[in-house]
Amino acid sequence: MVPLVELDGPLPEADTGVRVGQGFPPDNTMVTAQKSLPVTDPRAHALRNRFHTAFVAEELPVPVEAIAEDLLGLHVEEGEIPCSGLLLPADRLIVLRADEPPARQRFTLAHELGHWVCQVREGRPGAVYCRAADIAPGADRLREREANVFAAELLMPEEAVQVESTIAASAVDLAARFGVSEEAMTWRLYNLGLSKRRPDSASRDVQVARKVASEDEA
Ligand SMILES: [Zn+2]
Repeated sequence: MVPLVELDGPLPEADTGVRVGQGFPPDNTMVTAQKSLPVTDPRAHALRNRFHTAFVAEELPVPVEAIAEDLLGLHVEEGEIPCSGLLLPADRLIVLRADEPPARQRFTLAHELGHWVCQVREGRPGAVYCRAADIAPGADRLREREANVFAAELLMPEEAVQVESTIAASAVDLAARFGVSEEAMTWRLYNLGLSKRRPDSASRDVQVARKVASEDEA
């Protein structure tokens, strides 16, 4: 029985009530200079290292659910929700949309951990509701992009991707190795400079994400 390691302290002093439909102030900034944004986040690297120090040696796919529950003391559930994922900091609860594929749920969970580590733990404790479009490469809000960069680094560590990409036969194989979607892996390879082929931004997955998002908003 592995003890729960609560390495995070209490939540920052602030209103942690659920606020629906109030947008994402004050960082609701539209991205205008995407090329200058980072493609990795050292906080994701540090979180993974904390987990492996406390529990098990490094492994793939990255055990994102155990990181959430055993390391951070968060509760992870599936539910019939009208968005891909949500984070309720006051309840230490993450809910994942039940009808999405496992690889996508893993990315959504890592994305919610990005909100937790990069935003909640740094003093912005409001509830976060994430549409499918927020968890896609073209996310237009800075805080969503920050969570996506964190998620990509957490699930697809740069060093591991560099090593595994010399072994794997294709992006599909690599995606399976890391437990992510082919689209997520293709973007990671491109962002790390390991592939020159820019993923088609109008790919099927993105179109699906946009369709789900438009249904969410309807
Ligand atoms: Zn989000």
